[in-house]
Amino acid sequence: MIRRYRVGWLFTISGTPIQDATVSVEDGRIVAIEENGVWPDAVDLRSWAIMPALVNAHTHLEFSNLEAPLGTEAMPFPQWITEVVRYRQGFGEDLAVERAHAIRNGLQQSASFGVGVVGEIATLPLLEASYDRSQVHVVSMLEVLGLDPERAAERIVQAETHAGYPWSSKLVTPGISPHAPYTVQMEIVDQSAQLSQKHQLPLAMHLGESLEELELLEKGTGPFRVMLENMGLFQAEDFPGGRKVSEYIQHLTSAYRALVVHGNYLAEASSEVLQQFPDKLTVCYCPRTHAYFHHPTHPIEEMLGQGIRVVLGTDSRASSPDLNLWAEVQHVHHAFPDIPAEQLLTMVTRDAAYALGLEESYGTIEPGYQARVAAFAVGSDCPDVLATMLAGQPRLWDLGAGLNELDLATA
Ligand SMILES: [Zn+2]
Repeated sequence: MIRRYRVGWLFTISGTPIQDATVSVEDGRIVAIEENGVWPDAVDLRSWAIMPALVNAHTHLEFSNLEAPLGTEAMPFPQWITEVVRYRQGFGEDLAVERAHAIRNGLQQSASFGVGVVGEIATLPLLEASYDRSQVHVVSMLEVLGLDPERAAERIVQAETHAGYPWSSKLVTPGISPHAPYTVQMEIVDQSAQLSQKHQLPLAMHLGESLEELELLEKGTGPFRVMLENMGLFQAEDFPGGRKVSEYIQHLTSAYRALVVHGNYLAEASSEVLQQFPDKLTVCYCPRTHAYFHHPTHPIEEMLGQGIRVVLGTDSRASSPDLNLWAEVQHVHHAFPDIPAEQLLTMVTRDAAYALGLEESYGTIEPGYQARVAAFAVGSDCPDVLATMLAGQPRLWDLGAGLNELDLATA
């Protein structure tokens, strides 16, 4: 059956916003968009503005049961990583069950904030039940981690299995994530990129995140070396020095799609590669995580000015207070008021969907696309709808599910 909704404002993202539009939905997909009220039986939602469901390009849902970020604010990054490793070791024997609980919890939290898609870094063991009954589409990017070549090779095999796993939910698609330059060797980055190309998987890698990472690559020294030594993982030949983040980004150009996660510290050579491969490369800025570590101003404005695609992520609750992607948008809006609001909307919808390889189903409102939307209560006579949305908080609606399923409370 076709369901029709007459909304106050429709932000399709693919075109200019439409005031007073009717959206028709069938079998969970949008089938038509019309201006004005041509259908008397349409559900009246004229005090609402809708846009595509938000796409959180980067998170780690296994940390979603944390009440507060790990460590302390402005803690040196390698020390925080040590806290993360310790937290993971604190899981009991039923690691997979506890992790599944945290992931499901994280998906519920995401949905409550209007998020319809997450780029989730997955670690093994992973239960099928982790993604059960979720309204949120999960791009499950298997983490490949390990400086030891044998262990890393094993992870590549697991990533290929993960890429072909027959999930019972249609809302799960695979991806791959070589973790970071201090935990994987370049050969594994290359193999991950090849797997990404072969299976058309989105890839994500933490890059240019901290000055300590740059020091380890350039000189083979610093707090990351100490951390790896303390873990018994440091081998001098793995970090001979003279290496730059831009080399990793260059290697990622052989992937199908690659997310450069963070990019807090990228030199000109990195920007050049990012500009050369806009069809493949995207930077994911995680604003509140960036703020938690007190990094200097993120180069988002320069990147956007250079035509580099930048999207937003919450990262995990190990470094962010919650999984509210809209709070990240608000953070950027306050920190960088010159970035047009329309561009912020595009970053958390169409551009993020592209980076995750989902541009044919998510990120815009047009015929053929998923009918899950982010809805804002804006009132029936809103003088500045974008400003009201930016000050508000969206909720996730599945327009395919019918009126009773929509949470219409405005409080
Ligand atoms: Zn991350």
